[in-house]
Amino acid sequence: MSNPKSDRVSASKSATEARGETFYPGPSRTQLGAYPPKERWDDWVELDSRAWPQRLERHYLLVPTTCFNCESACGLLAYVDRETLEVRKFEGNPEHPGSRGRNCAKGPATLNQVKDPDRILYPMKRAGRRGENRWQRVSWDEALDDIAARIRKAIAEKRNNEVMYHVGRPGEDGYTERVLAAWDVDGHNSHTNICSSSGRAGYQWWMGYDRPSPDHANADLILLISAHLESGHYFNPHAQRVMEGKAKGAKLVVFDVRLSNTATHADHWLAPWPGSEPAILLAIANHLIQEDLYDREFVRRFWNWQEFMEQEHPKERASFEGFEKQLKKLYAEYSFAFAERESGISASVIQEVAKLVAAAGPRLSTHNWRSAAAGNLGGWQVTRTLFLLNALMGAVGVPGGVFPNAWNKFVPKPIHTPPHPHQWNELSWPQEYPLAMNEMSFLLPHFLKEGRGRLEVYFSRVYNPVWTNPDGLSWIEAITDESKVGLHVALTPTWSESAYFADYVLPVGLGSERHDLHSYETHDAQWIGFRQPVLKEAHARLGRKVKDTREVNPGEVWEENELWIDLSWRIDPEGAMGIRKHFESKSEPGGKLAVDEYYGFIFSSSVPGLPEKAKAEGLTPLEYMRRYGAFEIARHVGAQHAARVPKAELEDVRVTPQGRVYTRAEKPASANVVPVPSPDPDAEGRRPVGIEVDGDVVRGFPTPSGRLEFYSATLKAWGWPEYALPSYIRSHVHPQSLEPGEVPLIPTFRLPVQIHTRGANAKWLDEIAHTNPLWIHPSHAATLGLATGDLVRVETRIGHFVVKAWVTEGIRPGVVACSHHMGRWKLEGPGQRQAMATVSLQREGTRWLLRRERGVEPFDSADADTSRIWWTDAGVHQNLTFPVQPDPVSGMHCWHQAVRVKRAEPADRYGDVSVDTAKAREAYAEWLKLARPAASHSPDGTRRPYWLLRPLKPGREVYKLPGATTRP
Ligand code: SF4
Repeated sequence: MSNPKSDRVSASKSATEARGETFYPGPSRTQLGAYPPKERWDDWVELDSRAWPQRLERHYLLVPTTCFNCESACGLLAYVDRETLEVRKFEGNPEHPGSRGRNCAKGPATLNQVKDPDRILYPMKRAGRRGENRWQRVSWDEALDDIAARIRKAIAEKRNNEVMYHVGRPGEDGYTERVLAAWDVDGHNSHTNICSSSGRAGYQWWMGYDRPSPDHANADLILLISAHLESGHYFNPHAQRVMEGKAKGAKLVVFDVRLSNTATHADHWLAPWPGSEPAILLAIANHLIQEDLYDREFVRRFWNWQEFMEQEHPKERASFEGFEKQLKKLYAEYSFAFAERESGISASVIQEVAKLVAAAGPRLSTHNWRSAAAGNLGGWQVTRTLFLLNALMGAVGVPGGVFPNAWNKFVPKPIHTPPHPHQWNELSWPQEYPLAMNEMSFLLPHFLKEGRGRLEVYFSRVYNPVWTNPDGLSWIEAITDESKVGLHVALTPTWSESAYFADYVLPVGLGSERHDLHSYETHDAQWIGFRQPVLKEAHARLGRKVKDTREVNPGEVWEENELWIDLSWRIDPEGAMGIRKHFESKSEPGGKLAVDEYYGFIFSSSVPGLPEKAKAEGLTPLEYMRRYGAFEIARHVGAQHAARVPKAELEDVRVTPQGRVYTRAEKPASANVVPVPSPDPDAEGRRPVGIEVDGDVVRGFPTPSGRLEFYSATLKAWGWPEYALPSYIRSHVHPQSLEPGEVPLIPTFRLPVQIHTRGANAKWLDEIAHTNPLWIHPSHAATLGLATGDLVRVETRIGHFVVKAWVTEGIRPGVVACSHHMGRWKLEGPGQRQAMATVSLQREGTRWLLRRERGVEPFDSADADTSRIWWTDAGVHQNLTFPVQPDPVSGMHCWHQAVRVKRAEPADRYGDVSVDTAKAREAYAEWLKLARPAASHSPDGTRRPYWLLRPLKPGREVYKLPGATTRP
């Protein structure tokens, strides 16, 4: 993608500014006047609230960093006491263009995490059996030498695929992927297939990009299939823009089975039967199509309708008018009455929403995150049918519409770029799922049990698979088996259910203790944010140099940037393996790369406009980022798909009959290396450069056709012809799939003030939210004789859990819901005591019982608040009772469960979890049968279409299926 330059930062004033209202002069441009002006960030004075009524002044250094508590990466300002160099609080950073000085509750709670008395401060090695929760302190040297030796041996013996890095909260853009590429291991494994894969897949099939960037603030209609205002992606930055849009008169429509906080703000709240969302969206689309209410010109110019006509209606002339006739026929079955039958939402309400969509025209901003896409078999059609509305209305790349994420994101070039790995790891990318959006991470225990491979070194990094994934007891069985996992290294700031089953627990930094770079699609702009160890910068401002973050972090907490450089040198100390060179200094050849050089290079040479901006303030680019924490590169990016391709890029071009344009011209050097998909070159080696539209060559989209793919020839070619178009797949919790007595359980929603595993060391958050009752409608509860607080047994296919009922009208009758955010537990021994119940874990063959022995209790520590803990609850760990349910196309775990809800039995205790992992295995085998493997469905002898996105994309040569004769 060319670097967008349509509207640089110095451009026009906002409406607020034009009205002459007071606003903060930085990128936030908010009217809030309470932010400390940046000129006073070296000595900001506030009265000490604790000294009241005495007026005691405290002097602060205000040091920016970014929050690590969700993927939004909002700006934070650390208030560092100039006298004691203690961080006293975190507030919003008004210089951050995404969050604009605002945070949710989890941002300021970073302070709790930093000061948590139970946090892990030193490297620990297990002192008993794996899983016994007995530990001894070791040095970083001892731990890293051991780990490095094992990795070195594995690579030397060509067992590269036995090294796996499994990441939960990445919080960074590509640093660790480059580390793995330098080691030549295809070992990146993420949590994405239990999170957002299906949501992403629907967008990828359309655009070649996997996420939307909605312009909520300028929309006339905001249509959300998620609880965006309280827990969306990107939560606070998007929530504030949704409210901005509403304040300007936008209507808000929310689809959610629950009355979420977001639904309470909606003009229309629709609570459909889980999984029926595409039926509603298709009915709206059908209304637009039958009534000719769509943007004909946009469809004609940017959809791949010609390809559809040629492949599906070869006997007809491929005219646009002919296509429109077909379109009307294709969607006629999706009437409002059909949608009502599927969803339970009345046809008149759906029709009303359809009229709002039509009236919004291109000012239609839409988003689905997790929610319905993450819950249902075929959930990827939720986002595909949602984006169909944008594609029909021309609400793509225009104000108030939806942009592809990569246009509103900036990923700079690093100092070293190792080659793509020459490996393909079938433990993460098995042949059964050639179209999977991300790694099949949650099937790992089953693959290990089947002997598909073993792991020499398994890193879990800010990730807690035992607790977060479905089927956690199968995880425990697999990772305690040393023949399957040689060494488990948990890189984590907190104790977790998975860390108990590690060999080393290594303390890594929180948001104010580490370096990372990020840039996210919060709105139509591009910005880059910089996380940094705030005490390093505080020392620097006072004239003291810090070499290693362990010098300033609590205990021996280490940031990962330095850790990976150090570990890579230990793996290849002489440089003979070709690894070390990727971690060497360029300014001091042969020396170790320092983090200052790493980021100094990026900020000086890869971020357009930053060097000039820094120079104007008498700073180096690195000093600028350390001082302000973020930089706005472009305020508007605009319609990149319609941008003309410059003549210099058009050399010896070939234009296909469908208008795909290929060129022999080299790709121009661009600072922005957004990881866009790579459509195939033509047979003569020309690269795709754009599409021909009405005589112009414009950029288009990075799909094989270069257009928005209403019709996916890829899905058809890879064995899914029935899904080549946006359509409706009935969920596994559709009424016709449920047994008598079963109801759907919705387990996918977050609590707005919790942070998965890391919420357990934030006392303010734990005090606010520490339980997850079962939402049940009064009419449903009455049939079971249940009242709020009664114990309920919820039976899944592989076991049951015991939870308290919450009888509420805020849920659709006949559906129950329970947040996945609670249910933390610990074994006897160390753990996060303010949010973890102490449990016993009993096993008889494949049958497991987790029983709560003690709830949360007050305890003495350096923080007097821990002796005042008044809550005992920590919720119930429902995910343990869920079998794996991989979607055969996207690979996403389909979270919703078919369950039976009963009154608890006399012997049941609150928090009980009972599971039979033999049944979990049966469920795995059944879902696996739905897959259409590459071996029997690949059209070209490859493992996967090369153009599809893939984290840590390997070299093209390893895409070839073993034994395949066709050249990839
Ligand atoms: S939305 Fe909240 S948790 Fe997420 S980055 Fe922003 S402040 Fe942190």
